[in-house]
Amino acid sequence: MAATLIDGRKIAGEIKEKLTEEIKMLKEKGVSPSLSSIQVGEDPGTKVYVRSQKKSCEKIGIEYNLHQFKEDVSQKELEDFINHLNQDKKVSGIILQMPLPSHIDGRGLQRIISSQKDAEGISPANMGMVVYARPILGPCTAMAVMELIKSTGVKLYGKEAVMVGHSDIVGKPTTLLLLDKFVTTSVCHIATGERGTLPKYVRKAEILIVAVGKANLIKGEWVKEGAIVIDVGINRVEGKIVGDVEFEVAKERASFITPVPGGVGPVTTAMLLKNTVEAARLQTK
Ligand code: NAD
Repeated sequence: MAATLIDGRKIAGEIKEKLTEEIKMLKEKGVSPSLSSIQVGEDPGTKVYVRSQKKSCEKIGIEYNLHQFKEDVSQKELEDFINHLNQDKKVSGIILQMPLPSHIDGRGLQRIISSQKDAEGISPANMGMVVYARPILGPCTAMAVMELIKSTGVKLYGKEAVMVGHSDIVGKPTTLLLLDKFVTTSVCHIATGERGTLPKYVRKAEILIVAVGKANLIKGEWVKEGAIVIDVGINRVEGKIVGDVEFEVAKERASFITPVPGGVGPVTTAMLLKNTVEAARLQTK
């Protein structure tokens, strides 16, 4: 039987509807959430993201301010600018757009964003709160994955999950969030792929999350019958956006599956908006 599609756009819409109400209430109290976005250079992908972030913010009442820097900007100039945003009381949230030119230390910049304004939820302090199972401004994509899994209504306690990909912003925090739900979680990465044992892990996953960035890395026939499949990957193949999972075959085996596009992406954006509103609220305390 074909899987139920997890509709990321619908879930994101519901989150945004709630946020619109919260923003109205905050504005009545004189608090106006705003997101400051830092873009360096002219990466075409970033331009698309920035445009869509601006639209999403403004639609629900968050002011979006884009700050563009030339490709040859120095680390020091960016640090000074972030420190200025950290001090500016009108700024609720800050997002640093990736990729950055190779002479810029992106992690170094992310570290100096005030943890109370860290809209992406990836500063050391916010990541630390994930370890303590009390995310405040949580890492957007990992929080989105949990929201998508929650939408299935499946009881998580005791389930077996496999997380493919161990990046700092997706794989690692998602693993911690799953552990906090008492899900027994294995993490696979490039070395698992090279050793050839990826299928062995995937086949046992009742919940499978994939965040690698390689189209069709996960063969549909590896997917366990009845699994929940969350595909985080974004790949452009012959002008089309696809995930990391061989979707057409996997959807015949899974019980729930996210499409790409229309799965994780819209919910990740909704989490960015949620963090911005939460950041605005935190700063009033
Ligand atoms: P990353 O490049 O930082 O990490 C990739 C991970 O994949 C690493 O853990 C690496 O060891 C692992 N890997 C590489 N080759 C492998 C193989 N053959 N077998 C098993 N593991 C392998 O990636 P990231 O930043 O986590 O992003 C991963 C993907 O998710 C990308 O396609 C990215 O565009 C996408 N992404 C989507 C969203 C969204 O909102 N939908 C958000 C963030 C990232």
